[in-house]
Amino acid sequence: MAGGEASATGPDLQAGITLASLNEESPLLGHVGEEPVILVRKGNEIFAVGATCTHYSGPLAEGLIVGETVRCPWHHACFHLRTGEAVRPPALNPIPCWRVERHGEMVFVREKLPPSPRPVRAHSPELPQSVVIIGGGAAGNAAAETLRNEGYSGPITLLSADDAAPYDRPNLSKDYLAGTAPEEWIPLRGESFYAERNITLRLGTRAVAIDLAHRLVRLANGDSLNYGALLLATGAEPIRLNVPGASLPHVHLLRSLADSRALIAAATTARRCLVIGASFIGLEVAASLRARNIEVHVVAPEAHPMERVMGPELGAMIQALHTEHGVCFHLGATVAMIAPDHAVLSTSERIDTDLVVVGIGVRPATALAEQAGLAVDRGVLVDAYLQTSAPGVYAAGDIARWPDPRSGQAIRVEHWVVAERQGQVAARNMLGSKERFDAVPFFWSQHYDTTISYVGHAETWDRIELDGSLKAQNCIARFWRTGRILAVATVGRDRESLEAEAAFEAESAA
Ligand SMILES: Cc1cc2nc3c(=O)[nH]c(=O)nc-3n(C[C@H](O)[C@H](O)[C@H](O)COP(=O)(O)OP(=O)(O)OC[C@H]3O[C@@H](n4cnc5c(N)ncnc54)[C@H](O)[C@@H]3O)c2cc1C
Repeated sequence: MAGGEASATGPDLQAGITLASLNEESPLLGHVGEEPVILVRKGNEIFAVGATCTHYSGPLAEGLIVGETVRCPWHHACFHLRTGEAVRPPALNPIPCWRVERHGEMVFVREKLPPSPRPVRAHSPELPQSVVIIGGGAAGNAAAETLRNEGYSGPITLLSADDAAPYDRPNLSKDYLAGTAPEEWIPLRGESFYAERNITLRLGTRAVAIDLAHRLVRLANGDSLNYGALLLATGAEPIRLNVPGASLPHVHLLRSLADSRALIAAATTARRCLVIGASFIGLEVAASLRARNIEVHVVAPEAHPMERVMGPELGAMIQALHTEHGVCFHLGATVAMIAPDHAVLSTSERIDTDLVVVGIGVRPATALAEQAGLAVDRGVLVDAYLQTSAPGVYAAGDIARWPDPRSGQAIRVEHWVVAERQGQVAARNMLGSKERFDAVPFFWSQHYDTTISYVGHAETWDRIELDGSLKAQNCIARFWRTGRILAVATVGRDRESLEAEAAFEAESAA
């Protein structure tokens, strides 16, 4: 993965700095040779770790220290200061650590430390004989990696209906679609990764049934697989539009890498695109196609884009941002029909278009769970440990509805980082950890150079408290209900987003 590489600025840490220049609140950025390094003081201890997030190269010097971790301001990845371990996604790889020496009031950074060895677990009867993971997306990949990172040595099979190895799905509507992210950013791992970890990755392989009584997964090609523990991580499927012309070849959905590639191919000749739905994905597509100089129209029934999640003020800000970039909105309307060269809206307005992208939401892919007889209610129901109604069968990611400790309700979200974190927790619980899933939900969405970060979960609210300037895209919105803040959205205030996340965690722990 790449992004904005931090350059070697600040003091030369090998030459030493004074202890007084370090404070407990924020990391100090310096360098060791060409490598950017942050120094963090925790009481009498001083840690020196890499300054660059291994997800998209976010600047950890601008991050937040929580306990013995540093958190990235961009997408909330979290690293352990003692080991460099990526303890929370979206980062999958550790940051390096250096040895620190103190001489009186001076602190010196010495040599880089070797990576911490991974634990090895002897195979025991308490551990599952084998693990099968259905779904090679965010949750499934994180689960497979975590099982090995935790030292599980039994067989792991990762089944994916997709033809591509696990990839960075959020980028499919952003820089990749805009043509500014190279192809090598997209796979989560290199080609040999799964074989090296002894993870059997079966691509283009769809599971069609689960036999709970015999602990079997049946595949579309007629094979079947036994499992000791099973993870369902089948994600979500885009909702299709049900109007005349919706199956025409120039009408696209966007969920998979193949979908994004098809859209990119169409965008090379298209001149006018109609995006149906002013959702996160619809508007990210709008921004990416504007970067390709395609005329973009957005049609959606609501008064402001993203209003249902972000409220009217932030929705209006996002609308203004897109309008400044030339996007033409048709709000309060839907599409009545699509023809090869135009579409007609519910208002009878005709829009000439040679490319249509439908972004009207997704449905959790629960068909397998339903067939197996698992408890399903607008998602696969799981307990606090992410176990479904069947022992040894877990669910994670977009399909899972879990008891959220903060709201006291069962919730289901469609966030990349949540899916990865759930995959990790489910994997550890398969190995007997008994770990509750209590992470505070987080997502981000990117439009041109503007990123919106959102922590918490507010399906409804009774007021939104807005600080800062919407115009300057520097603001924080707090979503209140019955005297509590349920969620916080920020633009241009990454550190406050991290602080809100930490405050929500502290509240849950109290
Ligand atoms: C274009 C796009 C942009 C996004 N941007 C953001 C963003 O900026 N921020 C954010 O937080 N979230 C974003 N999301 C949402 C995020 O990607 C999802 O929440 C996340 O991928 C969910 O992970 P998952 O593992 O549950 O499902 P997925 O990642 O969808 O993976 C599910 C996998 O299961 C496979 N599968 C399904 N059924 C079967 C079967 N029967 N047998 C075998 N395999 C099966 C699928 O092929 C797929 O590989 C975006 C999503 C999209 C589509």
